[in-house]
Amino acid sequence: MILEATKPGVDPAMEKEFNPWLAAEARFNEAATLLGLNDGFRKVLKSPAMEVTVHIPVELEDGRLEVFTGYRVQHSIARGPAKGGIRFAPDVTLDEIRALASWMTWKCAVVNIPFGGGKGGVICDPSVLSQNELERITRRYTASLMDVIGPERDVPAPDMNTNEQTMAWIMDTYSMHKRSTVTAVVTGKPLNLGGSRGRVEATGRGCLFVTLQALRKFHMDPAETKVVVQGFGNVGGKAAKLMHKAGMKIISVIEYDGAVYNPHGIDVAALEKHRQETGSITGFAEAEDMDRFEAMFLPCEVLVPAAKENVIHSKNAGKIDAKIICEGANGPTTAEADKILDEKGIFVIPDILANAGGVTVSYFEWVQDRMGYFWNEQMVNGRLEEIMVNSFKDVVDYGERHKVHNRAAAYMLALDRVAFAIKLRGIYA
Ligand code: NAD
Repeated sequence: MILEATKPGVDPAMEKEFNPWLAAEARFNEAATLLGLNDGFRKVLKSPAMEVTVHIPVELEDGRLEVFTGYRVQHSIARGPAKGGIRFAPDVTLDEIRALASWMTWKCAVVNIPFGGGKGGVICDPSVLSQNELERITRRYTASLMDVIGPERDVPAPDMNTNEQTMAWIMDTYSMHKRSTVTAVVTGKPLNLGGSRGRVEATGRGCLFVTLQALRKFHMDPAETKVVVQGFGNVGGKAAKLMHKAGMKIISVIEYDGAVYNPHGIDVAALEKHRQETGSITGFAEAEDMDRFEAMFLPCEVLVPAAKENVIHSKNAGKIDAKIICEGANGPTTAEADKILDEKGIFVIPDILANAGGVTVSYFEWVQDRMGYFWNEQMVNGRLEEIMVNSFKDVVDYGERHKVHNRAAAYMLALDRVAFAIKLRGIYA
C-alpha cells in the first residue's frame, strides 16, 4: 500500500503519526530525557513566553465589515528576539502556531544565531481575498501588534501565503507608527526595501552545504553522487540546481503530479524551462516519466525531501534506498520513520539543521538593516557556508559524543543551548 501524507483526520490509521504537535512533543521529550533535564526546565522550555490573540476588523470590497482572528506566539526570547514567519490560511490554529514557534526556537539554536523562536498567523482564506483586503488585514494585524513585534523583540518573516509584499506592508505600518523607517522589524523584504541578497536561494544553498559535508564525511565523490529531489519549488528547485552545478547527478525529480527519471542525470535548468513552458515537469524529453511514489525508493546516495511534511513514514521508510537524507522540507519524516531509518543506517541531516539556511540569511538581513550597510552576494553566501558547515560539525560531533542519531543530537544541542541561556540569565522574580 502506498500512503501519502495527509492532514490529520483524513487518514485515521496514520492520524496520530502525522500529528505535528505530537511529533514536536516526541522530539522534545526524547532530547530532554537524553539530556536529563529536570521537570522544572522541561516546563520552562515547553511553555511559550507569550501568546497574543488579536481580532482584526476589516472592511471588505463589498462594504461588509468582517473580523479576522490573528495570533503571534513568542515561544522563546532567551537567546534573542523571537524570529519566525506569519502565515495566512483558513485552518490556522493557536496550537499549530505554538508548535511552529517552538520549532523556530530549536532551529535558531542549532545554527547558533542570536534569536529565539516565534510564529504568527491570521485565519483567512487568501484565495478569496483581494490585494486591498489582504493589505488591510496585514496593516491592522501589524498595528495591533505594535507592542509585541520590533527589531529587538520579535522579527516576523514570510510563511505560507505571505510574501515580500506582505513584509513591505508590515514594515511600512510599523514605521508609520514609530515615525521613522524601521526596516529591521521584518525579514524577507524586497531587495530595495532592506532585503538581503542571496535570500531566495538561501535554504536550497544551505541544503547543498550540509550535503557536501556529509559526502566529505563518508569520503564520497560529488561526481559519483546520485540525488533524488522531491519538490521542485523554492527549496527543492534551488537545491537541485545548486547540487547539479556542484557536479552531482540529479537522477530524479518528484512533483505532486508525477516524477521524471534519468540514470545519467537531469539538466536541472532545462527541466525548469520545460516546466515553465508546459506547467509540469512530466513529459520532459531528456528523462522518462516515472511513478512519483516509486521514485522515492530509487537507489541513490542522497534523497532530498523538499516538498511537504510526513512524506517518509512508518509504511514507506523501509523502502528508502538512500545513504543520506537531507531534509529540505519541515517535518518530512515522522518520529516512527526515524527509528526505521536509524536501523537501516541512513545518515539523516535533520530539518532543523538542513533547511536552516533560510533563517540564517534572514538573520543576515536583520544585521544588514541594523548596520545600514549591505553585503554583496558572495559575502552572504560565504557567511552562510561558514554557519552551515560549523553547525553540521556541531550536530554530528554532538551525536557521536552522545551516541545518538543526528536528529536527537540536533534537538539536544538546541535544548542545551536554550537551557544554558536561561540558566545564565536566571529566573527573574
Ligand atoms: P514551494 O511551494 O516553493 O515548493 C514546494 C514544491 O513541492 C512545489 O513545487 C509543489 O508542487 C511540490 N509538492 C507539493 N506536494 C508534493 C508532493 N506530495 N510530492 C511532490 N511534490 C510536491 O515551497 P518551499 O518554500 O520550497 O517549501 C518546501 C518545504 O520546505 C516546506 O516544508 C517548507 O516549510 C520548508 N521550508 C522552506 C523554507 C524556505 O525558505 N522557502 C525554509 C525552511 C523550510
